[in-house]
Amino acid sequence: MNRRPGFDFHWLAAAACLVALCLAACTRLSTAFPSPVWTPPPSPFPSSTLSPLPPSPLPLFPSSTLLPSSPPLLAQTTAAPLPATETPPSAAPPLAASPKPLRFVYPTPGPAPVSAWRPPLYPVPWAPTLFDHFYLARPIAADQRNWPAADYRYGGVFFEDVVHTGVDIPAPSGTNVLAAGPGKVIWAGYGIYRGINDPTDPYGLAIVIRHDFGYQGSALFTVYGHLDRIDVLIGQHLEAGEVIGISGETGKTTGPHLHFEVRIGNNTYFATRNPELWIAPPQGWGILVGRVMDTGRQLVAGQLIVAADQNGDKWMARSYGDEAVNRDDYYQENLVIGDLPAGTYELSAAYAGVAHRLTIQIQPGMVTAFTFYGREGFVQEFPPLPGADFIPEALP
Ligand SMILES: [Zn+2]
Repeated sequence: MNRRPGFDFHWLAAAACLVALCLAACTRLSTAFPSPVWTPPPSPFPSSTLSPLPPSPLPLFPSSTLLPSSPPLLAQTTAAPLPATETPPSAAPPLAASPKPLRFVYPTPGPAPVSAWRPPLYPVPWAPTLFDHFYLARPIAADQRNWPAADYRYGGVFFEDVVHTGVDIPAPSGTNVLAAGPGKVIWAGYGIYRGINDPTDPYGLAIVIRHDFGYQGSALFTVYGHLDRIDVLIGQHLEAGEVIGISGETGKTTGPHLHFEVRIGNNTYFATRNPELWIAPPQGWGILVGRVMDTGRQLVAGQLIVAADQNGDKWMARSYGDEAVNRDDYYQENLVIGDLPAGTYELSAAYAGVAHRLTIQIQPGMVTAFTFYGREGFVQEFPPLPGADFIPEALP
């Protein structure tokens, strides 16, 4: 696959994601216990033995030893059992959790992030159709790398049972982290995962903002993890673009980056959406959204889709894992590749030993949708128009 000059971020990102996954797993487990102070659940899982490498699945836990010691793979954390309210997490919200063994698998290296330069972003809110909601600015300034790592997208599965519920934006420690939209700080500090002020919390120093606007009547939250420093206080109101802290590598991560999540309705790990459908794209660039199914028209996880432009540059993504991630209300996607320069692309996928292809146009500023039906291959189509019960939110 070809790559453009730029980042060699695989391991770092991978590491970050692993952490995230660990967190997610941990969160899920820990949330099963509605006690105000988290206590280790009497689970069937050994609590401190995480080794990141298959072939043998490792038990994941909310213990402080979530980090794989060997490969530089830790990802960041995504799981945050935070109360949807602004009350301190000491009153842990009762979360439904179905504890089950989580296992590590090796992240499969994907293509290198493409391009080191991008046009300015569309002004927010950017909503070219009734179904779009690019309401958020990016949490890193446009004069620096401010796009998600290609290898650790939302929905990627880096542990056997855990998917990545956010995106990872590589950023050297000390990079200003910005509020993605106006809102109020409802969390600032350690403990987003554990619910108590614990410096070993996998998210490290983290901030949660509840935005001034929501979506379809539900609250909208953004989460910023692994910070090196926090410059805001709980209760503080922010405007989009205000500096809220600086990036770092606190928590479970092997390298500095920003873990960024979008949550709808509830400030929990289970309420995330794909940030690539919420942050405005670069001007003249577009977003590819896919529903990747099997021949029986059931969404499938982990199917690799490759998008190649006319220069031969390639972007790759796998369809979402089965758990913890959520699809967009309209697009019902299980794969998104954001930040694609407008133009002609060839999509390809190998399914059941057969290569399938589709030529599509990515339109500037727009979402382009496709569906993949297993042995029947690709179809360029948008989801059916929603029924009368679909009520687009007014622009913020
Ligand atoms: Zn992450």
